[in-house]
Amino acid sequence: MQDTQTPAVGYTIRNQRYINVTNRCTLRCAFCPKFNKVWEVKGHGLRMRDEPDVEEMIAAAGDAGAWDEVVFCGLGEPTLRLDEILQVAAAVRTAGARRVRINTDGLANLVHGQDVTPRFAGLIDALSVSLNGQDPAVYDVHCRPQHAGAWGAVLDFVRHARRHVPDVTITAIEGLPGLDIQACEAIARDLGVNFRRRVLDEVG
Ligand code: SF4
Repeated sequence: MQDTQTPAVGYTIRNQRYINVTNRCTLRCAFCPKFNKVWEVKGHGLRMRDEPDVEEMIAAAGDAGAWDEVVFCGLGEPTLRLDEILQVAAAVRTAGARRVRINTDGLANLVHGQDVTPRFAGLIDALSVSLNGQDPAVYDVHCRPQHAGAWGAVLDFVRHARRHVPDVTITAIEGLPGLDIQACEAIARDLGVNFRRRVLDEVG
């Protein structure tokens, strides 16, 4: 396996194959490993000099049907490369992928200036959407967004995405100062989506 190489375009945790899409982000999360000079996740080096192209990401997915899930992730925001990841999603589905997920900050509509969520239909089975704040003030402290109105934009993204993606899950990291995990869970409930508590530095 090439998982011990640095950087990894594809890496495996449990029986999920992660695709390292980009190191670019819309957020600058204070808790992010990369802003604390750590670019390794479970022994996989994720710092990239060049972003992988579509063919490289498809190759990194390997035998797509062998995994429980193919996940677009990395220490960056996959939807900044929306066209590319949807091409990869289509290819891995054709190759037999059982489930395709994007780990996202939920800011794709804000960044792209339009509702992109209809493009997920039939390609993306699941979205894990980070919401590290029960209100804009807490969110801004932890996530340090580069765009105004980011917290509200995440909620709006979820409202749209749930129409096109079967499994939408909001996640929040337990234990961040001021973060009310139950309030985050209530937001997910109000939006009619799932909720999962995350542990800092646990990928998944
Ligand atoms: S969105 Fe993820 S990769 Fe980007 S800064 Fe936040 S924790 Fe780091």
